[in-house]
Amino acid sequence: MQRALAAQDIMVEAAAILRAGGLVAFPTETVYGLGASVLNESALARVFAVKRRPADNPLIAHVADMGQIEVVAQRVPPLSRTLMEAFWPGPLSILLPVRTGLPKELTAGLATVAVRMPRHPLALRLIREAGAPLAAPSANRSGRPSPTTAAHVLEDLSGEIDGVIDGGSCAIGIESTVIEVVGDAIVILRPGQIDASALSAFGVPVRYDAHALRLSLDTRAGGGADMGAGADASIGEAPRSPGQKYRHYAPRADLQVLMGQDAAFVDFVGSALREAQAQGRRVAVLPRREQIFSQADFSYVLGEDDEMTARLYDALRACDSAGVDIIYLQGPQDEERSAALVNRLHKAAGGKILRI
Ligand code: AMP
Ligand code: MG
Repeated sequence: MQRALAAQDIMVEAAAILRAGGLVAFPTETVYGLGASVLNESALARVFAVKRRPADNPLIAHVADMGQIEVVAQRVPPLSRTLMEAFWPGPLSILLPVRTGLPKELTAGLATVAVRMPRHPLALRLIREAGAPLAAPSANRSGRPSPTTAAHVLEDLSGEIDGVIDGGSCAIGIESTVIEVVGDAIVILRPGQIDASALSAFGVPVRYDAHALRLSLDTRAGGGADMGAGADASIGEAPRSPGQKYRHYAPRADLQVLMGQDAAFVDFVGSALREAQAQGRRVAVLPRREQIFSQADFSYVLGEDDEMTARLYDALRACDSAGVDIIYLQGPQDEERSAALVNRLHKAAGGKILRI
């Protein structure tokens, strides 16, 4: 039965579902999260089941105020506190020593817990109303592009979760930066909008975890290995952030990322498109700027920089809906500034990034 609910009633009802161990997806400024109480083991287990998430990939605990940190973490070292004060609420997840007695699903058995305070007002209201931090991994099926609208959430999880709060499109569009403070250095485990230069304002060294680096900046050095199936054998140790070893964000079609200027992109795509179509393949073209690809079966203008970041997952999902077999995507112009975006493109394309 349909009922009309006022916004405040919806938050109260959603929080009640969460307190009872249910799963409610909600908007954050990065992507939509699949919310579950960090205190409820069966709810956390259901998050892994619904997402088909590998059991060794830990969740991020989302808090609404500084007081909630102590529900999940033993303590907050001084540098971590400084970073929280500088960047929260916002897209920065910080690893802290985990408190004992929490469900093991939260950290996948690790000794650290990732904590973040989101900036989206609906996320903050929901967490506050639920009365406990919420684990909220991206509300998609594992491996698929993360959801940046409520419709994306339902595309993947309709019928398997207890609700979704519709807050429109996410402003940032890719997942939070994940960092760990090691000694007096900041280590970036997953790049995001808060980047190395923002983090270097605190007078301590900032470096990338080898796995995070491999998947972002060093694509410039021609790193084109297929990162799809598992960890990169050229980097000995296991990733500090287990999520980095899995194929992510991928559309069903074969995604080819082309780094180059408009003229080179038009040239390359012009002939590649004819060839692919001659083999009976349906082709999508995703340029940065409005251009006419009249032969394409589908096209989607990505925009530049932040706009491209915000549209990426919607564009990849739209390609799937259009039923294309191959996608030619024009990568960002400023790779240095777009390290997090390049990281996601690298993973979504299974390493297929070409300089043209
Ligand atoms: P998602 O919530 O789907 O964006 O994924 C969370 C990301 O945070 C994954 O890449 C995890 O590997 C990472 N993460 C969460 N907790 C930890 C932790 N304790 N140690 C290292 N990485 C973590
Ligand atoms: Mg995810």
